[in-house]
Amino acid sequence: MEIKIEKTTSPKAKPTDESKLGFGHIFTDHMFVMNYDEGKGWNNPRIIPYGDFPISPAAMCLHYGQEIFEGLKAYRIADGSIQLFRPQENFKRLNNSAKRMVIPEVDEDFMLYALKKLVKMEADWVPHSAGTSLYIRPFIFATDPYVGVKPADHYLLMIILSPSGAYYSTGLNPVKIYVENQYVRAVRGGTGFAKTAANYAISLAGQAEAHEQDYEQVLWLDGVERKYVEEVGSMNIFFVIDGEVITPELTGSVLPGITRKSALEVCKSKGYKVSERRISIQEIADAYDNGKLDEVFGTGTAAVISPVGHLKWGDKVMTINNNEIGPVSQMLYDTMTGIQWGTIPDDFGWIEKID
Ligand SMILES: *Cc1c(COP(=O)(O)O)cnc(C)c1O
Repeated sequence: MEIKIEKTTSPKAKPTDESKLGFGHIFTDHMFVMNYDEGKGWNNPRIIPYGDFPISPAAMCLHYGQEIFEGLKAYRIADGSIQLFRPQENFKRLNNSAKRMVIPEVDEDFMLYALKKLVKMEADWVPHSAGTSLYIRPFIFATDPYVGVKPADHYLLMIILSPSGAYYSTGLNPVKIYVENQYVRAVRGGTGFAKTAANYAISLAGQAEAHEQDYEQVLWLDGVERKYVEEVGSMNIFFVIDGEVITPELTGSVLPGITRKSALEVCKSKGYKVSERRISIQEIADAYDNGKLDEVFGTGTAAVISPVGHLKWGDKVMTINNNEIGPVSQMLYDTMTGIQWGTIPDDFGWIEKID
């Protein structure tokens, strides 16, 4: 499919102070759009000026939540060129989310081609300062004007881009995490593994409660027994216990993070003992009491590695590694960000250049 291009006639001023970019507020001049119509398939791919667009008040996504999304970044490296980190994995996951939400799948190769074209066009929006990047948000939603419940016949796929600031401006600050005992995020057979808006909507109540108690994020337990650890708000979770790197296995209720997968591969390549298995919150508390809980950290595209300094479960507050970043977390952060910003060799073949 050929991508039609309509350039903006009123380009916006680019942010000059990159220390104030923050996250998710600023959008570039153009966006990618493609339609799906039953009988026709995906059609009319185009890059057009970024802007508001009309949809019907009856659009099905607004009523029944048929929506999926992805999140990845473009990085500017020292020679000025731009690169992506494992973008094929994002489009593969988009299709896995699509299947669960009865949304038509996309051609992954075409999506990568379209994304590269868009990023290339917006290259000047990729910030230059250390730690900054261009956040990429592909998403698909149902547009049929119909308030009956069924899979839609019409969808829009869009990609929008947002220059974002360095996640850690003052070094890797450990986060405070609160174990959620009341609400659950996902159950087996549900949508936990899909990157869909609904999973976030139902997580907000727990998140709000955590904030009230001065904790930054929620650690979710399994939806049935409320015993086994699943993941954090928008991150997967890892524990280092007695030298073993452990993360919950993927059983359908956990989002299969690309950072998670990459962290496992890096740990294995460095000879760490690595396990994907069920791990109960009691096992973690016991390890803590026995002085064997060496590190806890989250993984996700936004922060890459986010060390956990405090973990609160009921009345028990665990202070991990003296609220400092541990050696495994630091090694993973250095390796993965080194590959992303091109300061160390990409031995895994994870980088996709924009040329
Ligand atoms: C996106 C996401 C993650 C992290 O996935 P990455 O591919 O590593 O960015 C983890 N948990 C949830 C719920 C997510 O939506």
